[in-house]
Amino acid sequence: MDLKEKIRVIDGFPAEGISFKDITTLLKDADALKDCINQMAERFKDVHVDIVIGPESRGFIFATPLAYLLGTGFVPVRKPGKLPAETISYEYKLEYGTDKLEIHKDAIQPGQKVLIIDDLLATGGTMYAAAKLVEKLGGEVVGLGFLIELNDLNGREKLEGYKVESLIQY
Ligand code: IMP
Repeated sequence: MDLKEKIRVIDGFPAEGISFKDITTLLKDADALKDCINQMAERFKDVHVDIVIGPESRGFIFATPLAYLLGTGFVPVRKPGKLPAETISYEYKLEYGTDKLEIHKDAIQPGQKVLIIDDLLATGGTMYAAAKLVEKLGGEVVGLGFLIELNDLNGREKLEGYKVESLIQY
């Protein structure tokens, strides 16, 4: 299935000059949703995965069904102050200011093989931060998967050294 056809592109959202990739049109389509998760699993079929991670909030949508399909657990990476138990955090730069992501300290055991899934790769800042959190806990990042990759923003370069897979490119 051509999943790109299922994405709605909205120019000027959330600000002028931005061409927003709206995934809700794919998500509500039963066949497209199933095909999307199956395609992601196919990309990592030769990799041993112990646990799947997804960054808040759209990463949750794809990481959890993929974890179910692969027969692993799911671990959330969240914005500051959302996780209730002891966390570690990673701060990263945005165009203006900084952002921070957190993970539970006991979410990953040293040596576990971790697959991280998000909806969209732009600059790569979010995924890089998630990968660093996993590595801080002693996990091994075995793959980074995205539904969408925005080629012009060179996120793939920032993620050099990792196995990066995306199903749709713009
Ligand atoms: P990055 O950290 O610059 O790679 O940005 C990736 C994050 O921004 C992802 O977690 C996305 O959810 C979000 N994002 C950026 N642009 C879009 C878009 O056009 N549609 C949906 N999400 C986006």
